[in-house]
Amino acid sequence: MKNPVPLPRIGMRVIKTAVAVMVSYALFLPFGLTYREELGGVLGQMGPLYACIACIICTQSTLGQTFQQGISRLIGVIVGGALGTATLLLGTALENLWVKTLVLGAVCVAGVWICLLIKRPTACGMACILPCVILITGLTGATRYYYAAARIIETIVGLLIALGINAALPDHRPEGQRGECDMKVEVDNTTKKLCVIGDPVEHSKSPLIQNTMIRELGLDYLYLCQPVPRGKCKEWLDCAKFAGYAGFNATMPHKEELVPLMDELDADAALIGAVNTVCIRDGKAWGYNTDGEGFLRSLADEGIDPAGKHVLVLGAGGAAKAVCLKLAQAGAEVTVCNRTVDKAQAICDHDPAHLYPAGFDTATLYNKAQSCDVLVNCTSLGMAGTKGQFEDFSFLNGLKPGVPVVDLIYAPAETELLRRARQKGHKTVNGFGLLVNQAVLSLEHFTGTEINAAAMKKVLSGLL
Ligand code: NAP
Repeated sequence: MKNPVPLPRIGMRVIKTAVAVMVSYALFLPFGLTYREELGGVLGQMGPLYACIACIICTQSTLGQTFQQGISRLIGVIVGGALGTATLLLGTALENLWVKTLVLGAVCVAGVWICLLIKRPTACGMACILPCVILITGLTGATRYYYAAARIIETIVGLLIALGINAALPDHRPEGQRGECDMKVEVDNTTKKLCVIGDPVEHSKSPLIQNTMIRELGLDYLYLCQPVPRGKCKEWLDCAKFAGYAGFNATMPHKEELVPLMDELDADAALIGAVNTVCIRDGKAWGYNTDGEGFLRSLADEGIDPAGKHVLVLGAGGAAKAVCLKLAQAGAEVTVCNRTVDKAQAICDHDPAHLYPAGFDTATLYNKAQSCDVLVNCTSLGMAGTKGQFEDFSFLNGLKPGVPVVDLIYAPAETELLRRARQKGHKTVNGFGLLVNQAVLSLEHFTGTEINAAAMKKVLSGLL
């Protein structure tokens, strides 16, 4: 029978909160439940309350959000502490009830204003509460400074406990929901809209990646996920212009269809014949392709310079085309092995002096592997959620020692191909670097802001 009174589920979030509060409480117990002023100085003002509150607030979120919550709380305490102690400079004037009331209102306004100015709305509570407590309890002399210092110390300790407990105990959210909360960004009437279009597009990691970067950089943009049916790019572009979108990314199957719809096309989009980034400026559509450059940057990040090298590319789909044409432009000789040789031939026709088509049978792969300096897998073989896998990995035996093996796939982080290559002593690189670099380049086009890709890679590595 269904329980008539719905009861809350005791999950990991509840357990984390309880453990964090107990640890904070136990840690501050020697200072007394209320303050033991006989201890003197800051110690005499110390107690468990603020650490417990910091723990309760911070353990409701992910590890990254815990840190951000804690920082906001700390900022609130510092702003509130500074404002509260500053008001005491008014001295005996505060004995007048009306003056005190007006001062209380003024410090609350100042606290909220400062926190909003530095984009920390969750700091507002503490920024107001602290001056109120200082003013209402009538702290005097050095005690008011000890009081503020004690609150800061308690908050820092509470945050550290929350971070430790959050890291030590497992994520409280179901697998599928992890990372989703990190997409939250602030929106107001000036916020500019961006999105990714595709068919299907719901699986896209772009909103998570872009919104995370937007939040990290403090940019006033919002990045959405927009399904657009195949063959409807013209209609979408009109709609995006009308709705005031600043731009959008395109994934399968729209990259080629967008090319003739652009008012301006950058050199890489023209070279590759595909657009993955569209900026809308003054009603005009500017098309870019960041896949090829993103790939070259991901190689550079790993210290791989393709100039003058012989690269073996497996696959001849959309990603392979961007990779091959940019590798050739960077001065590499590229052999393109594909199951459907006609598709490899079509790519190579763009630059026959540097690109050579070949088949995908075991003997050909082994033979081509022997003479390559870098191997790049651009097929979908080994990708999570697909059944396809290399039937035979013996071509890895043909590689010279020290040849790096690159896989465009980033999920799983280590494909079977990379695992086997690593076991044979080869340096391996997955598709995460490409994923981040192409996204960084897109956001740079959208916003005109220079972005530190290495820093973004660190931020995003915890999410993807
Ligand atoms: P695509 O256009 O569908 O191309 C798929 C390629 O895989 C084709 O060359 C196809 O050969 C080959 N292939 C598929 N099944 C095969 C099989 N059973 N045996 C041999 N070859 C097979 O896909 P794409 O857009 O180029 O993407 C390719 C991979 O790169 C995907 O795994 C994708 O996730 C990854 N990627 C990663 C990033 C990133 O940011 N890291 C960006 C783009 C793509 P045929 O031509 O003979 O069908």
